[in-house]
Amino acid sequence: MRILVVEDEKKVANFIKNGLEEERYIVETAPDGVTGLQMAMENEFDAILLDVMLPGKDGFTVLRELRDAGNVTPIMMLTARGTTEDRVQGLDLGADDYLPKPFIFQELAARLRSILRRSSPEKTTKLKCSDLILDTVTHFCYRFNKEIELTTKEYALLEYLIRNKNRILSRSTITQHVWKHNFDPESNIIDVYIKRLRTKIENEDGSKPLIQSIRGVGYRMRDVPVDDNVDVDE
Ligand code: CA
Repeated sequence: MRILVVEDEKKVANFIKNGLEEERYIVETAPDGVTGLQMAMENEFDAILLDVMLPGKDGFTVLRELRDAGNVTPIMMLTARGTTEDRVQGLDLGADDYLPKPFIFQELAARLRSILRRSSPEKTTKLKCSDLILDTVTHFCYRFNKEIELTTKEYALLEYLIRNKNRILSRSTITQHVWKHNFDPESNIIDVYIKRLRTKIENEDGSKPLIQSIRGVGYRMRDVPVDDNVDVDE
């Protein structure tokens, strides 16, 4: 999952970024409201952590402009000004949650998981595809009762594929969700990572693979039997 952190205090931004990266998120940061708004408008994020007191544009303005533009990305406001009026204003403007500073990281992580769950059709913390299980809290991945170790990138890619299972995903859509925004779209890195992921998660007995290559388009993670009316490289 890709998260945008809009926070002007470098120490706080780095604290959140490092913590979230350990939790297997892909994290980008913006140091002010104008940059944050622009990044949020031009890229797909799964959630935004938005400080209220920001140079350029404050967090409430960024929130309002995003919602006015039809952007429905889950947003959690962060602020030192934890007054009731602030919380009410943020929630009324369309924030999904509100976390007063100072906070402990575990609470931020749990609340982030909660707003991500609310926006997802999957309400559970365990994602499944066929007999593969991905636990989004512990980050363990299991198949055939064996634990599979994944790197951060492999985890992010697999999580995105499972959350969108049975859908055909183009390489550029995958890129937008799993890689940082300055990523080179001409690169074949996705194919490289898919190959690594397959080696780790797929069955050796020759049954149908969980991740299908869709010729000329991208990939599909397959759970239920889906229509085979597309050009598939098995
Ligand atoms: Ca601030």
